[in-house]
Amino acid sequence: MTRCARFEVNHFLAWSLAALAGCAALWAAPPGTASKGGHNISAAEASPVPIILDTDPGVDDAMAILLALNSPAIDLKAITVVPGNVTAKQGLANALQIVSLADKCEIPVAGGAQRYLSPKFITGEFFHGQKNGIANIDLPPAKCKADPRFAADLIVEMIHKYPHQITLVPVGPETNIALAVMRDPSIVPLVKRVVAMAGSLTGGNTNAVAEMNVFYDPEAAQIVFNAGWPITMVDVLVGEESALTKEDIDELATTHGPQNDFAVQLLRFRYHGSDKSPHPGAVLFDPLAVAVAIDPNIIQTQDMHVDIETKGEFTRGETVANRTGTLENDVWNGDRYAAVGLEHVQPNVSVSMGVNAERFRHLMVSTLAGK
Ligand code: CA
Repeated sequence: MTRCARFEVNHFLAWSLAALAGCAALWAAPPGTASKGGHNISAAEASPVPIILDTDPGVDDAMAILLALNSPAIDLKAITVVPGNVTAKQGLANALQIVSLADKCEIPVAGGAQRYLSPKFITGEFFHGQKNGIANIDLPPAKCKADPRFAADLIVEMIHKYPHQITLVPVGPETNIALAVMRDPSIVPLVKRVVAMAGSLTGGNTNAVAEMNVFYDPEAAQIVFNAGWPITMVDVLVGEESALTKEDIDELATTHGPQNDFAVQLLRFRYHGSDKSPHPGAVLFDPLAVAVAIDPNIIQTQDMHVDIETKGEFTRGETVANRTGTLENDVWNGDRYAAVGLEHVQPNVSVSMGVNAERFRHLMVSTLAGK
């Protein structure tokens, strides 16, 4: 059941016209979905989506890279690497090994930031395999070489080369994307959209409120969320709700190929590592963002104003979402502030509110089978 559906049940009697409009909007075709003769065009029928994947590989990042490398619906322009699950150096090595496994050295893979905008530097190998962050799997040595460009420079260059075409898909801390905006703010209106695996409205996976990518670099996330481009937040809950099942993994294990077999190992690591997670199945946050980049209908969204908490004592890294779209307007009245009404607050983010988990799981297995 989606959160919108749950909302409808819990608040049925109080379901106002506003809620009706809001939830109806969640299930409508999202912005950017092509329409032809009243019918939505499926991802398979549309031209491949040019994307830049910014990643901190990472088990689920590795699955996101595999999806991006193998989906015919994607035109993968570049992979850029950021620290997060592992160090920047390890992440770049992992990305190059994965691209080499796919025999796609023509795709630029560039290193970027070595640390975060945030002064506290954290990495998360504990959840991804202490040896290398990709489930301790020994892949063949990389035959692809790193692109010499700095990730933020490559991102800026690509966006100018393909104006209004690129979808940025950050699935790690958002340092590289923030650096690109800081270096050249003119890229903002030239980006088609941003689909970020980031944030949570329902509790965090690093602390009580913060999702890891945002928690590791809240300052960067605040820049990216408020840059002014269309941004979709693929949050923790939809990631958890779309976990691949044992049956999905067993199905993928019936076919073979270097990437197929690597994916099965990653999925089994994540599935059996679920003792470190309160959620059953192989939870894959990052490839869901890639899937949303090519098929927006995989999730339902609601537009909200979202800021990142960068100072809170207990809430640093929280994605603070304004669900009502209003702020109380308080005016100084001589000896106190007095509320005088509500002000409208402009949405800046499309926030995931539900996921078609079956479609996502099928996409993963069918895309990687035999590769
Ligand atoms: Ca990641």
